[in-house]
Amino acid sequence: MLANKLRIALPDIIIKENWPLSPLCTLGVGGEAEIFVVPYSIEDMRIVFSLALDENYPVYVLGGGSNVIFPDGLLHGIVISTSNLKSIEWRTPFTVDIDAGVKLSVLLSEVRDNDLGGIEFAAGIPGTIGGAVIGNAGAGGHGVCELVDSVTTIEPNAEIITRNNNMIDYGYRRCSLSDEKRIIVSARMTFRASQHKDREIFENFMMLRSRQPHGHKNAGCTFKNPEGNSAGKLLDECGCKNLSVGDAIVSDKHANFILNRGHASSSDVIALIGECAQRVYDSTGIRLEPEIKIYGSSLSV
Ligand SMILES: Cc1cc2nc3c(=O)[nH]c(=O)nc-3n(C[C@H](O)[C@H](O)[C@H](O)COP(=O)(O)OP(=O)(O)OC[C@H]3O[C@@H](n4cnc5c(N)ncnc54)[C@H](O)[C@@H]3O)c2cc1C
Repeated sequence: MLANKLRIALPDIIIKENWPLSPLCTLGVGGEAEIFVVPYSIEDMRIVFSLALDENYPVYVLGGGSNVIFPDGLLHGIVISTSNLKSIEWRTPFTVDIDAGVKLSVLLSEVRDNDLGGIEFAAGIPGTIGGAVIGNAGAGGHGVCELVDSVTTIEPNAEIITRNNNMIDYGYRRCSLSDEKRIIVSARMTFRASQHKDREIFENFMMLRSRQPHGHKNAGCTFKNPEGNSAGKLLDECGCKNLSVGDAIVSDKHANFILNRGHASSSDVIALIGECAQRVYDSTGIRLEPEIKIYGSSLSV
């Protein structure tokens, strides 16, 4: 059994069985992971991944849990958390090697403390470096990929390799590394010297965030913006605000946000996502693509 093999191979790491995932996800939904591990180093993570491959276990990677929905009930497989991969090493005054589990907010503080800039657009985005790179997180037309020099991953064959950024294809909330289920373990990023306008840009982005729905658990924007359009606007025009399934409700402030007002389940949220996508499709013919990564369910609209 995988859990026992892991305990023998890596006696010091945290290994849990039937571990609740909802407290680890910002939407607060989801069931339990059959196995949940929190490796302390990149090499430990590689060993965990390799043993899981040997045992044919589905592998899920969890960063900050701010863009993911796990299914209700028991999730067969192993969830590997990056939360203990936290090293930050400055290689030059401008270039940093940063582990996947470091929070984006911590990186922003480091950048500002070092009188650097260029990442202000990411102000207020929750989650980790790994999650930000794999989803090319960003705002205002910018994505974190603009600052990445190289990315180190655990490959599907459990080797660790580093790729230059020009070997990686990025798009709007997309990165080619996710296509083959690679695990990002660290990234090298370069920033520019700080400029006067940086503080203002940072504060503008923080102000935009303060206007987003808060007070209830959520996972940010539910859908990606279709080309040349706004998902929030389409959802609003199709009457999605305040739609609800169980305790999952579409925010009345921003129709692209689904809130958990108490005890929503994954199925509630997924049903609501499906209903919203269907309404938009029925009245506009546009198929909205979820921005949130949904495991264990396929939406068909
Ligand atoms: C209030 C709020 C506001 C938000 N605003 C924005 C915004 O403005 N712009 C934006 O882009 N996003 C936004 N988001 C979404 C989210 O914060 C980002 O997508 C974030 O980058 C996700 O990182 P994470 O570590 O939380 O990833 P998780 O939610 O843990 O995981 C998301 C996906 O990435 C994968 N993943 C995570 N880490 C790794 C890794 N190391 N290697 C491989 N795969 C990995 C997971 O397997 C999963 O498929 C917002 C979310 C919230 C809650």
